[in-house]
Amino acid sequence: MGIREVTILGGGLCGLMTAWKLQEAGVRTRILEAQPEVGGLAKSVTWKGFRFDIGPNLFMPRDPLLLDEIKSLMGGSYQVPLRQSRLWFKGRWISYPLTTRSLLEIPWPILAQATAEFASLQLRYRLQGEEGRERLAQGDARYGALLDQLLLSEQVHQIWQKPSSFLSPSWTTQSKPQERPAMERIASLVRQAFRVPTPYTRSLHFPSEGIGSIAKRLQARLLQAGAEIHTNAKVQRILAPHGEVQGVVFDDGERVRQVETEYLFSTIPLPSLFPLLDPLPPHSILERLVRLRHRSLLILSLLLERDEADTQRWFYFPAKQYPFFRASFAQPLPEQRQRQQHACLSVECMLPSDHPFHRATTEEILQRCLPGLQEARLVTPHQIIEASVHREIFAFPEGGQEDEEILRHLQSFLTGTRRLRAVGMHSAFRAWTLEQTFREALRAARGILDENYPRRPTKVRPALAASPSSSSES
Ligand SMILES: Cc1cc2nc3c(=O)[nH]c(=O)nc-3n(C[C@H](O)[C@H](O)[C@H](O)COP(=O)(O)OP(=O)(O)OC[C@H]3O[C@@H](n4cnc5c(N)ncnc54)[C@H](O)[C@@H]3O)c2cc1C
Repeated sequence: MGIREVTILGGGLCGLMTAWKLQEAGVRTRILEAQPEVGGLAKSVTWKGFRFDIGPNLFMPRDPLLLDEIKSLMGGSYQVPLRQSRLWFKGRWISYPLTTRSLLEIPWPILAQATAEFASLQLRYRLQGEEGRERLAQGDARYGALLDQLLLSEQVHQIWQKPSSFLSPSWTTQSKPQERPAMERIASLVRQAFRVPTPYTRSLHFPSEGIGSIAKRLQARLLQAGAEIHTNAKVQRILAPHGEVQGVVFDDGERVRQVETEYLFSTIPLPSLFPLLDPLPPHSILERLVRLRHRSLLILSLLLERDEADTQRWFYFPAKQYPFFRASFAQPLPEQRQRQQHACLSVECMLPSDHPFHRATTEEILQRCLPGLQEARLVTPHQIIEASVHREIFAFPEGGQEDEEILRHLQSFLTGTRRLRAVGMHSAFRAWTLEQTFREALRAARGILDENYPRRPTKVRPALAASPSSSSES
């Protein structure tokens, strides 16, 4: 007999999407989320009349089927906004992605060297035929290794611990489709002439009410379809005698409850999952678990005496120099927009989860960040009315070689536990983007449906569920 109900740990986008696909196919779902709201890392937070997105802020789906799915979920609130970024580079702002204007902004000796390098790379790769053309779409070949190193690598390394060539080209694509600069138009003509596959996704995709509204919409659909969603529900124990999950114990804020479950999907960080297993995994596993490294996210919000702010712009900083890597102005909420007098700057820091900065007070964090923000002319101290700090623990698995080895051991232990699957960004060290996260969710749902209803047609579209999720993208 097939599985009729599934319990999902974690109400982030992976948990919600998995639940939605299962519920759609007739499997009852129960989500247990520790926080007061669903959304996980893909949340929009409001503070002092402003809304900012924590974690993901750029959604760039390249799979048309996934795009349709999200568009139909979000309805009219789905937007394709124009966003421009700035990189703080040697004491000045440089437009990013690079445009004709950036050419004037980059110090000329660096520009001359970079141009020569770029031209020689282009020539070299073009002479290499098909293989070379593919190479042209990757990191350093797009602007030459020098610019790549100067402008990008540091940020990319700070966030993802990978070289920038590892990332999807769409990471560098925040250009305006309507007003494409002359350089870009020429580049595009050249590309067409040489039939080089374009690496650019020219637009970003974004729900008008913030990234957090995707989770809200999924939550509403799930509740409508009869799913159970428990927020403030911190899981305390997973009952798995004889290597088989039977139930879950959680605290729903009022009392401790125990529910039986036929199947458990966990989307929570592995360091939170393993200690919940009852009986506990062997010492060798727990000892490895302690060595698994995560980075956490810390967001400093500053309320500023200033009424004009470009909310479409992102500012990136060299991480070695500052304790933060990115800043942006938060969106005023509709009621605030009428008589807006202030601006809210949200400054993001990504730190190892055991970094002492995490326990610092708001004032200490502000003092550390202020000199850099002043230097970049984003704030002056007299403008600051109020500051607040938002902390997300276990934001991101580090994913270095040692972590990946540990992960393999942990996963093989989990595979031996029946009726349990760990999916999503925190268990596979992949799904680093929303697109990959959704794919993981669809694949997970598809897996359980195939296992239980092999001949039953499901609404999970095979093209989506089967498409490979490259661990090398972001
Ligand atoms: C700083 C940063 C920037 C990013 N930027 C982008 C971007 O620009 N574009 C993009 O596409 N992607 C981006 N991503 C990736 C994107 O955020 C993830 O792919 C996605 O949000 C992961 O969703 P998830 O459901 O797997 O995990 P999560 O969102 O972390 O969900 C896990 C959930 O489990 C809950 N939980 C934990 N422990 C328990 C427990 N014991 N009991 C119950 N619940 C529990 C947590 O509260 C959480 O809600 C970014 C990520 C980070 C960290």
